[in-house]
Amino acid sequence: MIDYHIHLENGPLTIDWLSEFWQIAEAKGITEIGISEHCHKFKEFYPTFQYLTEGQDSFDYMKDWISKDFRQSLEDYIDLLLEARSKGIPVKIGIEVDYLTETEDLIKEIIGKYPFDYVIGSVHVIGKWGFDYFPQAWERQNINEAYRNYYATLTEAVNSGLFDIIGHFDVIKVFGHRSTLDLTAAINQTLQAIAQQGACLEISSAGLRKLVGEIYPAVDILRQAYQMQIPITIGSDAHYPEDVGDNWERLVFIARSVGYRECRIFEKRQAYAKKLPKL
Ligand SMILES: [Zn+2]
Ligand SMILES: [Zn+2]
Repeated sequence: MIDYHIHLENGPLTIDWLSEFWQIAEAKGITEIGISEHCHKFKEFYPTFQYLTEGQDSFDYMKDWISKDFRQSLEDYIDLLLEARSKGIPVKIGIEVDYLTETEDLIKEIIGKYPFDYVIGSVHVIGKWGFDYFPQAWERQNINEAYRNYYATLTEAVNSGLFDIIGHFDVIKVFGHRSTLDLTAAINQTLQAIAQQGACLEISSAGLRKLVGEIYPAVDILRQAYQMQIPITIGSDAHYPEDVGDNWERLVFIARSVGYRECRIFEKRQAYAKKLPKL
């Protein structure tokens, strides 16, 4: 089993901290981990976020957060993961990149400079609104519009061709807000884009730990993805060691129940098939 969505951000970039994640992973039967730190931990990515702090339509809580992040360097991050590998930890070098509409070229340039095994593309920001970590900001939003804009942005993210894996596909539901729209066409369009780009869809247990209380993506979406022959990866989105491999049996059970028999692993941005474990 693999866990390809792990964050080290709540501790230092040290081998000891990383080892804590690996020890728990190993104990849960995981044979390979991928670290996918948020791009906004790294100073190199600051220019891609800068526009979110500018203009009348920017959000104060976003400015505040952006002013405090971007403290580490990608070089130190990569060095740590290479060191871990040299010490026998089966770890892949990933990163979770925010798709930000105005900065595609910049993102491409930064990603191209480092030896990533895979790049997860995620949408956490619609326009200038970061929707997934500050619930109060939803009070000023129209839910249906938020869903519509989310899937439009996600489709753009996929079509940018920047990403190997699309992270937490329906994370717009994170706080439990539900759209009353029929989103079938929008979701279908995003999935079609994933299929066309040859990208992977991530199955994530993170939503089980959030207010929404269900996996990403919802089972109906996953079923549709299977019918479109979209490959999958598996991740917990752990931010602490104890969450690594969270609910992986459940994720595999759901993947198998809609038809999947394999997932994808990555090396140097090349995907390879790996059989899903039998439960
Ligand atoms: Zn994310
Ligand atoms: Zn994440």
